[in-house]
Amino acid sequence: MKIKLRTKLAVSYALLFMALLALSGVAVYRLMEVRLTADADDNLLDHLAGVWGYIEFRDGRPTLVYDKDDLNQKYFLREATRYYQIYDTANGALLLESEYSRELQEALDPDQVRALALHPGISTTKSQNVPVRFRSAVFHANGHAYLLRVGVVVEHELSDLADLRRVLLSLLPAATLIAVLAAWWMAGQGLRPVRDLEREARAISISELGRRLSDRGTGDELDSLANTFNRVLARLESSVGQMRNFADFMAHELRTPMTVLRGEAEVQLMRTDLSPEWRSHLESHIEEVDKLNSLINRFLLLAKAETGALKLEKHYVDLTRAASSAAKSLEPVARSIGVALTVDTAERVEVFADPQWLEEAILNLLDNALKFTPIGGQVRIVTRNEPDRAVVEISDTGRGISATDLPHIFEHSYRARDAEPQHRTPGGLGLALTKWIVDQHLGTIQVTSIPGEGSRFCVILPRMSNLQPDVRANSANSI
Ligand code: ADP
Repeated sequence: MKIKLRTKLAVSYALLFMALLALSGVAVYRLMEVRLTADADDNLLDHLAGVWGYIEFRDGRPTLVYDKDDLNQKYFLREATRYYQIYDTANGALLLESEYSRELQEALDPDQVRALALHPGISTTKSQNVPVRFRSAVFHANGHAYLLRVGVVVEHELSDLADLRRVLLSLLPAATLIAVLAAWWMAGQGLRPVRDLEREARAISISELGRRLSDRGTGDELDSLANTFNRVLARLESSVGQMRNFADFMAHELRTPMTVLRGEAEVQLMRTDLSPEWRSHLESHIEEVDKLNSLINRFLLLAKAETGALKLEKHYVDLTRAASSAAKSLEPVARSIGVALTVDTAERVEVFADPQWLEEAILNLLDNALKFTPIGGQVRIVTRNEPDRAVVEISDTGRGISATDLPHIFEHSYRARDAEPQHRTPGGLGLALTKWIVDQHLGTIQVTSIPGEGSRFCVILPRMSNLQPDVRANSANSI
């Protein structure tokens, strides 16, 4: 499964945002918890000192002594310090406790008293559904050590924390949504220069290798990528230029000796004293030179097409007329090999095309159909208008194409593996050139074939009315 870079980036950003949000939530919660417990713990310290101040020992037993008419003292000992207990650390016995403490049934056993006497500390317990935070300390009196334990109710603190937890959790879906949206937006913004670069690079066709990607002047990695790409373009431009020159050179260097060879053979054929055997040799010689000439022409044409050196001149043309003209020029060939060539092109099928190239494409397909159809076979060419496209169809009752070869027939120099010896001459350029022509007209070629029964090549071109005005203008200028 292909995952887009934007999606990957957005997922990473979203995860990062969510981790940061979760971390902030936990930090806020912890901070609040520490503040609230620190306040309670400070209070407890005051209470420890305060309660011990009112303790007096009578007959060795601790008693709370205070002025019952003093509201402050009364409030402190009955309401503010609700829970207190005094233990004898020697035997763990509970010597004194407040009324509330008794109700809570929170008395410690001797082992717990001894442990607390060694390590006095703070703890929160929940008895009778009341959360109480206890703090203990060891005090000395009359040569004895006593454990004083005081507690405060921390119900408010805990409910404040619960409220905070609820608020944080209720914010979670909205925060997640915002994190995802922000991540998607940020990934899009981050990749925008890459997309701009891609758009620019896409617009550079083989015929416009002189164009370069713009330098944004930021000196960042993308600028460096653009510069590297520009250097590659420069090298490509130079190589393609050399190939074009080579194709021109070859065209000249090969055509001249071919013309000379053909001319000489024709001159020899004019001799009256030529034996029939020599005449036949020379005629076959001319035929081979013609084949070679046509092959060289195709090869050079394809080389030029592939290096962007060919220009198409498009106008409104009748596909039917191009098909009829191609059929007419191959009619003598069809007759000579005993194949019936039928043309079924009743209507006018208007397309926006270069008429010469269009005819060349149809000629290639017709030529193949005739070439691979045995004596007595049929080749049919049909043109028709379809709702949003124009179609030219060339079908034959020839040897067909195997399923293994079918996906490769438009490749440069591809030859079917079971090609007959007479078709195993170098080549395999016709369909590559045909595809190139169809591509230049923004069309497609579909092939269906049944080995032993025949093939059907369908060229589908956009109807001119479907082409956007700017596409028409562009195609008219160059390819
Ligand atoms: P060439 O005709 O020079 O061999 P093409 O590029 O025109 O090269 O065709 C490539 C191959 O596709 C041919 O060699 C042939 O095997 C196969 N082919 C093309 N058209 C047909 C057809 N109408 N019937 C059978 N095979 C075909």
